[in-house]
Amino acid sequence: MAFLRSLALLLLYAVLIFAGPPRLEGATVLASGSSLVRTVAITFDDGPHDKLTPPLLDMLDTLGVKASFFLVGSMAEKNPRLVREIRSRGHTVANHSHTHRSCLSLSTEELEEELRKCSAVLEGITSVPVRFFRPPGGKYDRKTVERVRKNGMKLVLWDINSRDYTGVSPSFITNRTVRRAVPGSILLFHSGVKATIDALPEIIGRLRKNGFEFVTLDEMFSAYMANAPFLLTAEESTFIIM
Ligand SMILES: [Zn+2]
Repeated sequence: MAFLRSLALLLLYAVLIFAGPPRLEGATVLASGSSLVRTVAITFDDGPHDKLTPPLLDMLDTLGVKASFFLVGSMAEKNPRLVREIRSRGHTVANHSHTHRSCLSLSTEELEEELRKCSAVLEGITSVPVRFFRPPGGKYDRKTVERVRKNGMKLVLWDINSRDYTGVSPSFITNRTVRRAVPGSILLFHSGVKATIDALPEIIGRLRKNGFEFVTLDEMFSAYMANAPFLLTAEESTFIIM
C-alpha cells in the first residue's frame, strides 16, 4: 500500500511539473476556425479608406462574399458613412485599436483607452456590439490578452498572411493565399491595397473551386462555435511577435 501511495504521489508531482505555466483563465487568442467545416474567413485590416474601401466593397458584392473589417477608430471617426456601408452590406465590423499604435508600447491605461475608444466609435456608428480585436501589426502580450477579454472581445489573429502590404503583385497574393488555405483558415489582407482588390476575383474563384465557402468572423465564431475546443488558450509561449 505504501508503495502504491508513493507511486501515486510521484505521478502527481510528474503531472504538476509537466503541466507547464499557469494558463490565463478564459483568455483566448483565435488564429483559425474549426477545421471540420470547409469555410474560410477573409479579413481586412486598417481603414476605412476614402478611395479604396468603396471599390473593395463593390468587388465583394460582385463576388457575393461577406468578410470582416478590422477598422482603426480614428479613421472610422472621420468616415462614419463608410463604416455604416461596411456593416449594411453584411460584413463584420471589428476593432483594430484607435490610433494603430503597437500594444507592446502602451501602458495598461493607454491600451484600455485604445480598445474602448475604437469600440465606442464603431458601436456609436453601427449600434452593433464589437466582438473582435486584432492588435496592430499582430503584436500583443499578456496584458493585451487580459484587457481585450475584460472589454468583452476576443483577440483574433490569422493563420494565412497574404503579405499584401509589401507591394507584391495580385498573382503573388493569389497564389500564396490559395495554396495555403485549409478549412477554418483566417486570411489576412489590408483594405487600402489596390493589388488586393485586383486579386480577389481569382482568389475567390479558385477557393470556391476547391470547395470553400466564405464566412464572416461573426459566423465563424458564433456563440455556439466560440466554445468549441479549437480555441487556443493564450500562454506566453503562443504569443507571436511580428
Ligand atoms: Zn493594421
